[in-house]
Amino acid sequence: FLEGKRALVTGSTSGIGLAIARALAGAGARVVLNGFGDAGEIAGLCKELDATHSGADLTDVAQIEAMMAEAGEIDVLVNNAGMQHVAPVEDFPVEKWDTIIALNLTAAFHTTRLAAPAMKRKGWGRIINTASAHSKVASPFKSAYNSAKHGLDGLTKTVALELAEFGVTANCISPGYVWTPLVENQIPDTMAARGMTREQVINDVLLVKQATKKFVQPDEIGALAVFLCRDEAQNVNGANWSVDGGWTAE
Ligand code: NAD
Repeated sequence: FLEGKRALVTGSTSGIGLAIARALAGAGARVVLNGFGDAGEIAGLCKELDATHSGADLTDVAQIEAMMAEAGEIDVLVNNAGMQHVAPVEDFPVEKWDTIIALNLTAAFHTTRLAAPAMKRKGWGRIINTASAHSKVASPFKSAYNSAKHGLDGLTKTVALELAEFGVTANCISPGYVWTPLVENQIPDTMAARGMTREQVINDVLLVKQATKKFVQPDEIGALAVFLCRDEAQNVNGANWSVDGGWTAE
């Protein structure tokens, strides 16, 4: 049902973004991938999904503007690129704070402001922001990430109100822990910050609040993104959908 629609998924060379890109391509959209990685692997993904790729670094506004100009009019915008850093607030590296706010929050503002005019003119659009359980609740040692994700929820609600009458919806999807490189890579720093073993981090930190005691699978996020593009979801607007095994129910 997305034939003739163009979807840009940021941070889609890996993890959740790649699963969303696969799901949207499977529903018929022409996909523009974005993100870093091995050139051969990215070429393989472009072939698999009949997609194009932008290597824009989304912490840099000029590169975002170039990506958006090259991509053309976007019907489905998925702001998904993100990174994490785990450290106590008093030791939190200032440059990590700036990078995380730029990538996890400010980049979504730039892509949204650049995609909105065409969506409004066409009278149809979908903006889907990968937030996090950390857009609703906090965990210690993630000051930049929690701040950016709470901010992304605020941006989403604002845009939802502004664009609602133009057939454009904006929503957050907020996963709990999904087994991707982003999660795997934070285990060593969490071990250091909390003085724990790897097993303790997985069971006593990552899965402790996820009532299902299971990691979310990236495909589950892709399926929800596809649903949000359907006509049946036209009144789902400004929402923040938890996919966290019950974490934020407590
Ligand atoms: P990932 O590390 O597997 O993928 C991140 C993607 O972002 C990659 O494609 C990477 O190349 C890209 N990227 C990184 N820096 C970039 C930059 N400067 N410019 C452009 N692209 C850049 O991570 P993931 O787990 O799939 O996370 C995707 C999103 O989901 C993030 O916003 C993350 O905060 C969110 N999220 C993840 C989890 C989880 O448990 N994995 C939970 C909740 C929310």
